[in-house]
Amino acid sequence: MSRLFAGTPWDRPPTCDRCDRPESECSCPPRVSEPNRIPPAEQTARLTTERRAKGKLVTVITGLDSEANDLEELGTRLKNACGAGGTVKDGRIELQGDRLQAAEKALQAIGYRTRAARG
Ligand SMILES: [Zn+2]
Repeated sequence: MSRLFAGTPWDRPPTCDRCDRPESECSCPPRVSEPNRIPPAEQTARLTTERRAKGKLVTVITGLDSEANDLEELGTRLKNACGAGGTVKDGRIELQGDRLQAAEKALQAIGYRTRAARG
């Protein structure tokens, strides 16, 4: 009798994404939701602008560790605060357009120290 998903990526027992063993054999410690968070007041966000292809400006926020901060959540807050689109990738938050001042204000409102310089 053939299995429904034979030969497809679903044809595997669920495995742990940390030890790669089947979940039934995994003995990894339980995941802690916020293991290494650092208070915003102890961090400095660096803001700059970068010019992309076709002359488009993006505002880039770096210097915030992705384990010490929930960058996805922070990215969403900054996008809302600036009314801009953006992405979070490789520990960087990018906002479309020149959002340096608005993003800096929003970060400071959360409690982050900031250092801003246009690129
Ligand atoms: Zn595991």
